Amino acid sequence: MGWLDGTAAIITGGGSGLGRALVDRFVEEGAQVGVLEKSPEKADKLQAEFGGAVLVVTGDVTSYRDNVAVVEQTVARFGRLDTFVGNAAIWDFSTRLVDMPEDSLDALFDEVFHINVKGYLLGARAAVRELARTGGSVILTASNAAFHPGGGGPLYTASKHAVRGLVAQLAFEFAPKVRVNGVAPGGMLTDLRGPGTLGLDGTSIASLPIADLVTTCTPLQTLAEPADYTGPYVLLASKANSSTATGAVINCDGGLGVRGIGAVAGGSDL
Ligand code: NAD
Repeated sequence: MGWLDGTAAIITGGGSGLGRALVDRFVEEGAQVGVLEKSPEKADKLQAEFGGAVLVVTGDVTSYRDNVAVVEQTVARFGRLDTFVGNAAIWDFSTRLVDMPEDSLDALFDEVFHINVKGYLLGARAAVRELARTGGSVILTASNAAFHPGGGGPLYTASKHAVRGLVAQLAFEFAPKVRVNGVAPGGMLTDLRGPGTLGLDGTSIASLPIADLVTTCTPLQTLAEPADYTGPYVLLASKANSSTATGAVINCDGGLGVRGIGAVAGGSDL
């Protein structure tokens, strides 16, 4: 028996990294899953691996029509929608404001915010009526960058802070029928890409040496795998376990907020 037996969920960006781990975990927990994924290669691979248990729509989270398509097709196939997980995003490769080319500022802002913020907004709008029918919930992937500087440049950090704003406002607007919560993971070696505006849409975060950075600056001192972050999503998707939680963001970034001044305390003598 799984915590999500008999439910149906949508996960955006389910083709790799955290989204892919969420597809695996939600299926394991008994959910039927619809995915909105931009990369045709990742979409095909996912569909081939899961067959009928997962419905994959190739499309872009910045298109309202594509968000509606995944909602309609998921409900047509599985008969209901209990959870919408907004997860697809890009990273700005920690590009500092002064390093952004002046003639790219507008395009860069639009690209990051359209995917990271507008994508979640459009998905929530497309899904909310079906979620209201089942008393379901929205879960948005935030980041350590939703709380702290230095996990990205100003565009990524601001876009992830905006995700916390969406969680609060939509939780307020959708209550009492639909709960809205977030999960804020820390660093992981995924295929997270950068903005095409900077020519970084073919480069992934896993190409950077972030492992040492993550293990030395977080109190928990571990570089988590995407699967390690899936538990909070199951918790928030499960009415039996979190029916009173709305407007919450579960922070699971390895403890950046309790880092303190100086070196990580360590606890090695415990
Ligand atoms: P990832 O690139 O491996 O996964 C994102 C998926 O979304 C990919 O399959 C990609 O093809 C898809 N995608 C990208 N743009 C899209 C679009 N416009 N429309 C539809 N699909 C699109 O990266 P990830 O690290 O698994 O990222 C998942 C989430 O985790 C993001 O919200 C990211 O900000 C967050 N996050 C990542 C890290 C990290 O260190 N990797 C840390 C904190 C938070």
